Amino acid sequence: MLDFGSLLLATALSGACLSGTLVAIWVTARQARFVLTMAVGILLLVTHVIAFWLYGRDPAPWLGQATLALLVGGFFVVFMSADQYIERGWAKRAVLPVTGVIGLTTVVTGAGFDGLGFAIAYSAITAILVMTAAAFWTARNVDRRTLAPVSLLAGSSAVSFALCAFVIIQQRQWVLAGVPRNWAEDVNTVVVVACMTALGALTISFHHLRTQSRLQEETLTDPLTGLMNRRALNALYGSTRFGSGMALAMLDLDHFKRTNDVFGHAVGDMVLQRFADVMKKHSRSGVKGFRLGGEEFAIVMSDILAPEVHDILRSVGADFGADIVPTRLGPLRSTVSIGICFGDDDAMTLEQVLLGADAALYAAKRAGRNRVATAETADSEAFREPQPLFA
Ligand code: GH3
Ligand code: MG
Ligand code: MG
Repeated sequence: MLDFGSLLLATALSGACLSGTLVAIWVTARQARFVLTMAVGILLLVTHVIAFWLYGRDPAPWLGQATLALLVGGFFVVFMSADQYIERGWAKRAVLPVTGVIGLTTVVTGAGFDGLGFAIAYSAITAILVMTAAAFWTARNVDRRTLAPVSLLAGSSAVSFALCAFVIIQQRQWVLAGVPRNWAEDVNTVVVVACMTALGALTISFHHLRTQSRLQEETLTDPLTGLMNRRALNALYGSTRFGSGMALAMLDLDHFKRTNDVFGHAVGDMVLQRFADVMKKHSRSGVKGFRLGGEEFAIVMSDILAPEVHDILRSVGADFGADIVPTRLGPLRSTVSIGICFGDDDAMTLEQVLLGADAALYAAKRAGRNRVATAETADSEAFREPQPLFA
């Protein structure tokens, strides 16, 4: 049989170390507030374990009250950490009910019904754990790989706390004058020891996952315009076969060097941002915009017919051409030239459609700019006559 006291103290010690580790991680990444919250939650649970151990030796009512308040409070703060991680906002709404539960356990334990206090606390924790699992399952912004460990952790803890509450209620042990001792408590101790370690490890790995995905997002996003960059284009479409029903357009601002020279680099940047806004306005599922670099952009269109491709690009050109940027030297209007390359039945590579669109773009520039041209194939000779974007 386990030496209960030593086990509890070992748990408290390892929990305290875990909490310290989390604080150290948070110090180096202050924006990850959920790590600090988890450290506080685990520390509250560690304090609970010590209070629980003391209450087993000295059943003073205040110790019983503190034990239960720390237990419910600790699990609630762990839930708050999860809530911060998934940016759900459920924790705020749970503050009042949880405070109510802590108040209730304080009152009944003070009145001598500590067993009832334990049953209430255990039931509340079961509910908090179920809520944690539900919040994760229904969250949109979490990596789906995190669901299995969270469900296992929250699920097994919820079951073990539910069993503890069940045994007290079934045996009607409303007055204990000490800590509950039964088979469910033994199971719960083992589960909680395992879960506390797992919670710490999970928090660290969640922090890494989030950092990793933010970094990845940054490497795929152009900081000036917020559009996806060339690396993202390669990542998304590098192995795509551009068949019929797909098209790629290359868009290049006209005389942009002059804009910079006359109006300054800052105005140039603003023009790039406003052009990106026009592209975003016309983006939707199957129509994705990228900044390839400088004043060159691309739009990839999927599941689309040629007339719609022309409609979208004509709108992009017309909207941008109609956009007037106020500057110190007076209003500035810019234009864009566009080259389109449609995929074909032989299915082209990204490289081929980029070449085709670039050649078409060159034709649009040569024909006077502010227009859209189409390459029938990647063959640089076979162009349609460039069409003006608008009269
Ligand atoms: P064309 O109509 O033939 O496309 O002429 P252009 O002047 O637009 O083309 P060119 O390639 O000669 O000039 C592109 C300019 O874009 C040169 C460069 O200074 C400017 N540029 C590139 N990146 C940025 C940027 O991030 N911000 C600003 N403001 N200018 C940029
Ligand atoms: Mg240009
Ligand atoms: Mg250019």
